[in-house]
Amino acid sequence: MENFIKENIKSLKAYTPNQNLFDIKLDANEGKNIFLKDNLQLESYLKKLEINFYPDSSARALRKAIGNYVNVQSENIIAGNGSSEAIELIFKTFVDKGEVVLSPIPCFSMYEVFSHIYSAEFIGVKSKENLSYDIDEIIRNCREKKSKVVFLCNPNNPTGAVISREEIMRILENSKAIVVIDEAYIEFSDERSAIELINSYENLIILRTLSKAFGLAGIRLGYMVSNKRIIEVINKVKSPYNLNSLSQCIGIKALEQQDVMKKYCDDVKKYRESLFNELDNLGFKVYNSQGNFLLIKSHIPDLFSKLTHKGILVRRFFEQYQDYYRISIGDYCENKSFIETLKEIVKNENR
Ligand SMILES: *Cc1c(COP(=O)(O)O)cnc(C)c1O
Repeated sequence: MENFIKENIKSLKAYTPNQNLFDIKLDANEGKNIFLKDNLQLESYLKKLEINFYPDSSARALRKAIGNYVNVQSENIIAGNGSSEAIELIFKTFVDKGEVVLSPIPCFSMYEVFSHIYSAEFIGVKSKENLSYDIDEIIRNCREKKSKVVFLCNPNNPTGAVISREEIMRILENSKAIVVIDEAYIEFSDERSAIELINSYENLIILRTLSKAFGLAGIRLGYMVSNKRIIEVINKVKSPYNLNSLSQCIGIKALEQQDVMKKYCDDVKKYRESLFNELDNLGFKVYNSQGNFLLIKSHIPDLFSKLTHKGILVRRFFEQYQDYYRISIGDYCENKSFIETLKEIVKNENR
């Protein structure tokens, strides 16, 4: 059996989401169920769906709705089975064996995972002491290592830090790589989307998702936005019927209710600020975040187990980041229970 497996896959670990039992789930940055609960009246709409037929392979109606939302034409968009599929499409289209893929560290882990699967060489560029991107180092590595694709996450997961429009342009103008900006959390931030730049550069791709601000992680719906030439090429690689008709349908309905999403994001920003202050008061180092989560550095050993024991799931990290935890912003009650539990843990620690 071992002989059959691709060399790069042998050392790969499967992506295992948290398996612990929980009362409060603050580990995966999922949004709240703001649509399906009551205000997205899907029933009559779903009845009209002809699920005996394959879905619209190019998701025309959905892309039109997305186009209205982000203010570009449908021809600049590919919809996918989560932005995970979009990330993989970039590998399939642009990255040959041995070519260099670059991203800052810490950053979203899937860029590195796909690099291994596609036999690319992954280079992680260490961030600065405050965990913000080291733009000069990113540009230097892009040039010296002749990177093919650079992935940047804005706001970054797990830090929540943002990069400015000027910094993005500096990277675009000083490297020959395809620059991918993953904007999974942009709706929670005060930054402008880099989508405005797609027609000014030949090498820019933006990734977006409905998994976070729209609270639709369960339907697996992401999309990429780029200039028409890049979209045309990636469309040659995309599997037909990649996005099922139910997800297309729910996506369209959700995009009709942007006010619901915006209200939710405003709530998250408000809770993020109060949670920041609470964590800061409890003596944790808290990083400024523009996402729906906060990264903290903990002075309490094995905080993960102590919280899990109380039924609260957060995201932990390993090796050099083992004292760091990423906490998704919950609703009012979840945040309250989380802080109360944490206060107890801190108190016990100081006894
Ligand atoms: C959550 C997340 C995504 C979303 O992935 P989907 O496949 O669309 O659910 C993409 N990029 C980053 C950095 C994320 O944190």
